[in-house]
Amino acid sequence: MINLANFSSIFMANWKLNGNIDFINQYYQKLLISNENCVVVCSSSIFLNKLKTNNKNLYIGAQDVSIYKQGSYTGELSATMLEENNVKFCLVGHSERRKYFNEKNDTVKIKASNLIENNIIPVICIGETLEEKEKKLTKEILFNQIEESIPNMSNYENTIIAYEPIWAIGTGLTPLLEEIEEIHKFIKSINKKLNKFKVLYGGSVNASNSIEINTLTNIDGSLIGGASLKVEEFNSIIS
Ligand code: PEP
Repeated sequence: MINLANFSSIFMANWKLNGNIDFINQYYQKLLISNENCVVVCSSSIFLNKLKTNNKNLYIGAQDVSIYKQGSYTGELSATMLEENNVKFCLVGHSERRKYFNEKNDTVKIKASNLIENNIIPVICIGETLEEKEKKLTKEILFNQIEESIPNMSNYENTIIAYEPIWAIGTGLTPLLEEIEEIHKFIKSINKKLNKFKVLYGGSVNASNSIEINTLTNIDGSLIGGASLKVEEFNSIIS
């Protein structure tokens, strides 16, 4: 498993259902990795073994994994298969999977356990909807997501949390800086164990706002969707 303590920040590109071989070749020709930060590219599964890892700070991430370990589950990909393809990180519980594929906290928990057992770091995504934020339910929602989706075997060395307010994903909207800071502090203060976890922020991070977000105290990096598809912009975020 990757030693997360080696990095001051972690930046994850979530390409979602985008990209093709040409895109990948051009992207990797231009991608500039820094010495201190960990950079993870999460592509569609079919491209995972096309992604380069020619730099000690550059890793391959998957966007999902099966809850099953093996057997008659057509279309699924197991954590073991991901490990064999050099995958070191995997998103779990992304809000798009929760929304479009009915993913629930209990399945997120099983997926995270399967990944850890295969030396892959799960990046467990949590976040509130706009309605929940407006009703001032954010902390309650996040608390429940954390309680129900983080397995007992998780610790700060083998698991990452990504706080992604759902209303900020792909919308160009972000919480106020003090709100991001407060929520990350809250997540880390839920219990002693969580105190040392790395917590990434995701939701409309771009080249213009990433420095101010990533210099906040309790932010350990970012999960980046739309802006990660433009390699020059992603370079500027990770530099
Ligand atoms: C995401 O989907 O994880 C994400 C953060 O998307 P965007 O950066 O486009 O808001």
